[in-house]
Amino acid sequence: MTSPLHSLQQRFGHAAFRPPQQEIIDCLIAGRDVFVLMPTGAGKSLCYQIPALHRPGTALVVSPLVSLMKDQVDALTAAGIRAACYNATLTAEQARQVLARLHRQQLDLLYIAPERLMSAAFLERLREVPLALIAVDEAHCVSQWGHDFRPEYVQLGRLRQLFPQVPLIALTATADRQTRQDVVARLGLEQAETFVRSFDRPNIQYRVVEKLKPFAQLEAFLSRRRDQSGIIYALSRKRVEEIAAKLAQRGHAAAAYHAGLADGERQAVQEAFLADELRLVVATVAFGMGIDKPNVRFVVHYDLPKNIESYYQETGRAGRDGLPAEALLLFGYGDISIARGLISKGSNAEQVRIELHKLNAMVSYAEPLTCRRRALLGYFGEPLAEDCGNCDFCLNPPERYDATEDARKLLSCVYRVGQRFGAGHVIDVLRGQRNQRVLQLGHDRLSTFAIGSEVSVESWTGLVRQLVHLGYLYPDVANYGVLKLTEAARPLLTGQQQLWLARPRLKDAAAGGERPA
Ligand code: ADP
Ligand code: ZN
Repeated sequence: MTSPLHSLQQRFGHAAFRPPQQEIIDCLIAGRDVFVLMPTGAGKSLCYQIPALHRPGTALVVSPLVSLMKDQVDALTAAGIRAACYNATLTAEQARQVLARLHRQQLDLLYIAPERLMSAAFLERLREVPLALIAVDEAHCVSQWGHDFRPEYVQLGRLRQLFPQVPLIALTATADRQTRQDVVARLGLEQAETFVRSFDRPNIQYRVVEKLKPFAQLEAFLSRRRDQSGIIYALSRKRVEEIAAKLAQRGHAAAAYHAGLADGERQAVQEAFLADELRLVVATVAFGMGIDKPNVRFVVHYDLPKNIESYYQETGRAGRDGLPAEALLLFGYGDISIARGLISKGSNAEQVRIELHKLNAMVSYAEPLTCRRRALLGYFGEPLAEDCGNCDFCLNPPERYDATEDARKLLSCVYRVGQRFGAGHVIDVLRGQRNQRVLQLGHDRLSTFAIGSEVSVESWTGLVRQLVHLGYLYPDVANYGVLKLTEAARPLLTGQQQLWLARPRLKDAAAGGERPA
């Protein structure tokens, strides 16, 4: 039997594994479950494709997107690997052929839509088919906390029990702490080996400026980047059209891109952008899904994105070549209420609650209280040891003050109320509010009652956000945003650690619209 490395070189034409591909592959070959959280482009597919060749039987790959399945199967087939897909696009005859190959054990990999896999008839078939492994791609789709929940993924929760002997691997590129816990629980992956690769994109410089006169601010930004390619994201089609038209009027090679355009038009914009004939694309979120242009130098957000996942994915389209790139967010408080309004129109109350929470996280990123990268990576559960040195906050640090005392008061109050209340209540207790809830709970008798009455609600709220970004506290979203302490809070609580924090300064940070890099 050849080694996985040999397969990598002979079948896929790559010289060496990237970390941690080899470890993941070894785990699966040994029959263990795996959970993989790595950014797009990190090389997740090989993590199950190679073990599929090194274990007896067929590997099942669950994937939500028909187009993605087809691309993968074509690439595998071209490399001489026996792969097929089984989804609703096949004719009856094609489907019959795929099943025949499956039963004759002539398939190394079968890509399959979740609802097909979980149908009673197909599960019955699988009794007679030896399985190498089961891979669940885009695993965040199983969770309502993810940004792309798909009801047909929920059934996959039965896989772990239905196939106790078959190793299961779940892969995703987007999962905050809540989503990750949810995916693991729903798929029964408590015993899985977990692999997380950094989401950091050190070459991207993050900046947020207060949105004052957005078009003028955009023009000023563009005028200093005359020959660079960039993407400008705006929230609505109408706005996209307007900005693109104004830019074109002023001599920029810019075009609009949104879901309302005909396929041919969209295709043309993409191709012109790839070929560097178009310098700027003004787009709704739809742009960039399938394209991989290495030299996008900047991404501008004209409007506030609805959540950090989207923001991360969109800014991530800058600097794929590893060279310095920029992400600029124009942040206006007006945008918050617009976004709230849009979200609140949703019909599913649970979904609305989740999306509002995600919007809050986005807003707290936009407020200049911490290093941007810390806030961003912190959201994905990846603590950064120190400030990044490559964001507006780090390049132009605000005044700092000794926040040790206040932080300690806040953390101990969270502890005293039993880590069972949200920020509003904790702040009421700190400020000594004798309201009905506080009195009913007897929280006016806590040692932390009224120990922070001289500090304003806004300051306490800002401190909560900073402590969340810095990883001392986290809001348990599955539980109404109840504040909980992390391990990191202990040394601060026991007085073994000092904490210096930035003074809030949104207004003056944005004075003049933009500061030099
Ligand atoms: P993901 O699913 O994480 O987004 P893919 O599996 O699509 O990433 O891989 C992204 C790209 O990286 C592909 O072009 C793939 O061929 C390439 N790639 C993956 N692993 C390696 C490797 N070990 N060496 C070189 N290129 C690799
Ligand atoms: Zn920074």
